[in-house]
Amino acid sequence: MTVEPSHPFQAPWPIPDDAIEQQLQAIYNSGGWGSYTGIHTQQLCEILGNRYKCEHVMLACSGTIGIELALRGIGVTAADEVILAGYDFPGNFRCIEATGATPVLVDIAAATWSIQAGDLAAAYSAKTKAVIVSSLHGGMADIDTIMKWSRSVGVAVIEDVCQAPAATHAGQLLGTFGDLTVLSFGGSKLLTAGRGGAVLCNNESMAQRINVFRERGNDAFALSELQACVLLPQFETLAERHSLRRDNVNAILKTTAPCSGITPLKIAAEDSPAFYKLAWMLEDPQRRQDLLCYAQDKGIPLFAGFRGFVKRSDRRCRKPVSLANSTVAAEATVLLHHPVLLQGPAVIRDLAEELVDVFNR
Ligand SMILES: *Cc1c(COP(=O)(O)O)cnc(C)c1O
Repeated sequence: MTVEPSHPFQAPWPIPDDAIEQQLQAIYNSGGWGSYTGIHTQQLCEILGNRYKCEHVMLACSGTIGIELALRGIGVTAADEVILAGYDFPGNFRCIEATGATPVLVDIAAATWSIQAGDLAAAYSAKTKAVIVSSLHGGMADIDTIMKWSRSVGVAVIEDVCQAPAATHAGQLLGTFGDLTVLSFGGSKLLTAGRGGAVLCNNESMAQRINVFRERGNDAFALSELQACVLLPQFETLAERHSLRRDNVNAILKTTAPCSGITPLKIAAEDSPAFYKLAWMLEDPQRRQDLLCYAQDKGIPLFAGFRGFVKRSDRRCRKPVSLANSTVAAEATVLLHHPVLLQGPAVIRDLAEELVDVFNR
């Protein structure tokens, strides 16, 4: 069965936005669309610097390159180790490899899809330079414990908030806890210019290392004036859309709560996560393929999660702790993609009821 693109669950992304249309018209008229940098890249840096309270904002061509730049900023080299979760965005593993360093895998905490703080001490070695903390699928790590540990051993923390641009922990914006923060402005992301990203920090020598690395006679990993111009209006609507998604997620989680055989995301009382994806874990991974096909036939944007790194060869990474939760996540995660989460209450009610039917299948 093919689902009509006009199906209410198949919401477009990005959504129509007059402010963005006006920006595009204006930058066409001014000729600014042909510029490497200008007032829009400057304003974008100012907005990000203010939001994340960072002195150094370096715009980049993608979130992936942002992670690599962050590692370069820390000074990670082939002699070093970098800790990341056994279930994470695939590019993060590759970024560590790009520096020559060795990835060290730790587990994710149950039902948060985020790095397990309690594993860090066992993964630490004299070579450990950094840890990458990603917020995935609405899940959030125990950032307080992670920061306390990192300060005690002198390991730099990279916050990957590519999926979580307006998430807060205890009222504080995610991305303001660690040493460096990375954002993505990719085409599917909550803030989008089709492509793009940023890396932010407050450390002079980290920023300097990043600037030296990206300087090839020009900024080799730049975000253009045209990309910056479409991003600016999105900061005006970010908070409102963040809370609409959160309210709709709460409604969906409430309706689907009685379903058995499936575990929803665990959200701590002091957290307000961002929902680029909304995750569930199936108890029986064998059901996943069939369940996803059934959901997609109904027009529901439900997909499998990442494959994770548990099966990566021991020659490519070190695995000092049990990766039981990461193993399960790779096989049993299902994700609802975000555009539908900006729909009105009637669509959300239908969606939640259809999800109940899918999960009870
Ligand atoms: C999308 C994403 C990235 C990479 O961003 P790109 O701009 O697509 O390169 C990194 N980390 C996470 C968690 C992501 O979701």
